[in-house]
Amino acid sequence: MAKKLAEYEAKRDFKKTPEPGPRVPKKPTRALRFVVQEHHARRLHWDLRLEKDGVGVSWAVPKGIPPDPKKNHLAVHVEDHPLDYFKFAGEIPQGEYGGGQVAIWDEGTYDPVKWTDREVMVDFHGKRLQGRYVLFQTRGKDWMIHRMDPPQDPGRKPMPEGITPMMAKLVEKLPTPDDAWGFEFKWDGIRALAYVDGGRVRLQSRTGEDITPRYPEVHAMGRALGSNEVILDGEIVALDDKGRPSFEEIQQRMGLTAENEIRRKMREVPITYMLFDILWKDGHSLMDERYTDRRRALDGLRLSGASWQTPPYEKGGGPTMKEASRKAGLEGVMAKKLDSKYEPGRRSGAWEKIKNKNRQELVIAGWLEGEGKRRGYPGALLVGYYKDGKLAYAGKVGTGFTDKILDELNAKLKPLATDKNPFEAGAAPPRAAHFVQPKLVAEFEFVEWTRGGQLRAPAFKGFRIDKPAQEVTREGG
Ligand code: MN
Repeated sequence: MAKKLAEYEAKRDFKKTPEPGPRVPKKPTRALRFVVQEHHARRLHWDLRLEKDGVGVSWAVPKGIPPDPKKNHLAVHVEDHPLDYFKFAGEIPQGEYGGGQVAIWDEGTYDPVKWTDREVMVDFHGKRLQGRYVLFQTRGKDWMIHRMDPPQDPGRKPMPEGITPMMAKLVEKLPTPDDAWGFEFKWDGIRALAYVDGGRVRLQSRTGEDITPRYPEVHAMGRALGSNEVILDGEIVALDDKGRPSFEEIQQRMGLTAENEIRRKMREVPITYMLFDILWKDGHSLMDERYTDRRRALDGLRLSGASWQTPPYEKGGGPTMKEASRKAGLEGVMAKKLDSKYEPGRRSGAWEKIKNKNRQELVIAGWLEGEGKRRGYPGALLVGYYKDGKLAYAGKVGTGFTDKILDELNAKLKPLATDKNPFEAGAAPPRAAHFVQPKLVAEFEFVEWTRGGQLRAPAFKGFRIDKPAQEVTREGG
């Protein structure tokens, strides 16, 4: 009898693995049993085992047991396992055969309907798995598993493919009443929907592009979801050295397509997928559910890994959230109506974004001539700050001016004109620059400092006549 499990025994070292030994019981058990084990080996798969003649006849099913008769799954016939294996759950040591976590996905009894060398038809009586299935050989060890009964869940629908994410309206002020809204931190990165099925993740950009290969860090999230079939919404962010999402950092990842470049950049600029919504679960759309119910379903997945997170939301408390986001150096907050549906592709008023801006005083030390209507006026100001006693160039600012400000600028800048470039540090200012003595100080709003010490998306806010130019240094960031 032990010969039956010779292949099982040959593949394993029972001094090293906690898996059961190759025992074949003498007496057959009464009802025939089955087990499906979720096996987080190098590749996630599910192992289906059917009790027959004192052993477990086994198949490895890479995508799991198909819930729908329309979708057959590959089932690779593998060596018979001992019946003791039906109760096995735990960790097979790394480096051993099948190393990784094993969990019991379902167990129960089954009735054999037909059993030949090439075809096995059974009725399952499990907790999750019920109904008639057939396994049939296609080639060698390759078999297919097909559900013969109608789907267990008759309302189950096939997962949709190209959902366009819902968008938010940019507003100046937090919405009211505060307690009708949920607040999340706003993540400055790449919007992506994740389609997860059979432990595999497919990432899709806002425009419908498949961006899965660009973010290998997220692939393991599929394993974490096991047999859950879901569509998730979130933002892929890269954190800077202070742990804040930086759009500049993520830009280094978003354009890469070559696998070796991606692998190299992954170490330098790792990403995190920030999850904030769930649109689909196990054959059912959640898009018509309320925001609060979707968030509960998302939290229920407990998605928190090395490269993916489910940051919490707050019911009400917008001002506190906004202040916290500003202090943390985040871009702002998202406000979502608690009772709102998910409206794909729409920028409805149910989602709003409220941005924080950074402010900084800077010295004006040059300008570029404007074009068209702005000819004869500054088109952009060249600004800087003092670092170690030297004026460092911080970039050009071309927005935020009224006609009155432009007149004022002309009046203030002309008397300060100089041939000498006042910038002594940082990047070189543009060649077409008209330089001025660095005496005039103004306040600017901007999104973030780039790594090269430049302002991203700056705008002029007003003159600061109260501040001596020599005292202007870079704040924060
Ligand atoms: Mn296995």
